[in-house]
Amino acid sequence: MSSTWHILGAGSLGSLWACRLARAGKAVRLILRDGQRLQAYQQVGGLTLVEQDQPRHYAIPAETAQARGPIHRLLLACKAYDAAPAIASVAPRLVEGAEVLLLQNGLGSQDEVADLVPRARCIFTSSTEGAFRDGEWQVRFAGHGYNWLGDPGNPALPAWFDDLQQAGIPAEWSLDILTRLWRKLALNCAINPLTVLHDCQNGGLLGHLDEVEALCAELARLLRQCGQPEAAHELDAEVQRVILATAANYSSMYQDVRAGRRTEVHYLLGHACRAAGRHGLQLPRLERLLQRLVDSLRVRGLPCD
Ligand code: NAP
Repeated sequence: MSSTWHILGAGSLGSLWACRLARAGKAVRLILRDGQRLQAYQQVGGLTLVEQDQPRHYAIPAETAQARGPIHRLLLACKAYDAAPAIASVAPRLVEGAEVLLLQNGLGSQDEVADLVPRARCIFTSSTEGAFRDGEWQVRFAGHGYNWLGDPGNPALPAWFDDLQQAGIPAEWSLDILTRLWRKLALNCAINPLTVLHDCQNGGLLGHLDEVEALCAELARLLRQCGQPEAAHELDAEVQRVILATAANYSSMYQDVRAGRRTEVHYLLGHACRAAGRHGLQLPRLERLLQRLVDSLRVRGLPCD
């Protein structure tokens, strides 16, 4: 197996991973959207990572999906709604047994990807790191956090796992990655849509704790029904802790809506409501929340899927 890290998507997280791996001397190749994006990138000659206000340039090679070389290891670093078309664009280049790391938030996109590349090993990731683009081909490392990686179908630690530590990417191999992803999804469902609907920072939800609590009760029922009792454990208390600890922050969904960007609602609250439907579970508050959110996105002219 080649040790090259192909990274599809030079956005916030993709660039953050690419720069740290390149800095540690790992072979990295970016896969950009099309020839036009590649040309624009080549004019700049690399990515810039800003850490503690210090910008540093990394001349990382790039190509498009149509390039010829085989791909042994791929970091899929696009949004959840782009994951299926993105993996389809490189699927013919994946070698037998290729490993695909999925950085997408929420749930649902991982299965869409796995269905398209049945012979690849799909590794799911849950990240609490924070980064945002503050210029073309420039990303700012905004929040230190952690990454949990895991493969629900195979507990074996991947051979390249040490690369992450060498690159300063804080990561742990998780044997319960689905529990982590469900828990994060539930936290997101209890906080993010309400910040959009009440037009507030996370701390603004302290004035709506009854609503938050009622949502947590439905989310906990859903998690238990989906075979994730651990993800349901003391959900309400953790949601309140997160609201307090991040009181001054705007949620990612709030920021997306404010900036007129498409949200990942389909893979977050949308996924929760679809899962409830599949289990025949009536969760009226969650369904009503999704409807209110979809209405609000429509009014703003944003996609609601
Ligand atoms: P982002 O900044 O929007 O970056 C996504 C990148 O994917 C963009 O550069 C986009 O290209 C590229 N892309 C999409 N389709 C492509 C294709 N077919 N071929 C090549 N490139 C393609 O997104 P992000 O913030 O890094 O988020 C990625 C995922 O990580 C999301 O699910 C997010 O929820 C999750 N996450 C993000 C953070 C964070 O702090 N940013 C933290 C935790 C989790 P263009 O530039 O050409 O549009």
